[in-house]
Amino acid sequence: MKVYFHDIYVSTSKKFELVDITGQVEDGVKRSGVKNGICLVFAPHATAAIIANEHERGLIEDILTKIKEFVEPERRWNHNLIDDNAHAHIGSAIIGADRVFPVRDGELVRGTWQNIFLVELDGPRRERHVLVEVIGE
Ligand code: ZN
Repeated sequence: MKVYFHDIYVSTSKKFELVDITGQVEDGVKRSGVKNGICLVFAPHATAAIIANEHERGLIEDILTKIKEFVEPERRWNHNLIDDNAHAHIGSAIIGADRVFPVRDGELVRGTWQNIFLVELDGPRRERHVLVEVIGE
């Protein structure tokens, strides 16, 4: 069994943003040489998340609008007494900082309308790290 790590680094320019990392993730799968297995996409951050969905401009805005409604950045959260980003922690905790995809015949398996995005919840950030781990044979 092979275990391969691939590091992705992206910068973000807005407080809330979806960054499409599909190409970089698929590049990691290709480099791994794994034919059949799984691919973990993990953001080692408490204020970011990973999702898979359609890369369509309107939908991206819709998703961000709903996330903002849900995490209520303007609310007086307890954590904001020490660090003004409780909304981002809540978003990361609920959405999740990872997704797992099958790898089959050397390709990452995803739906036609499933691109992979880093969800920035507390940007802008000079550097966000996404770790891709490909496991299989
Ligand atoms: Zn914080």
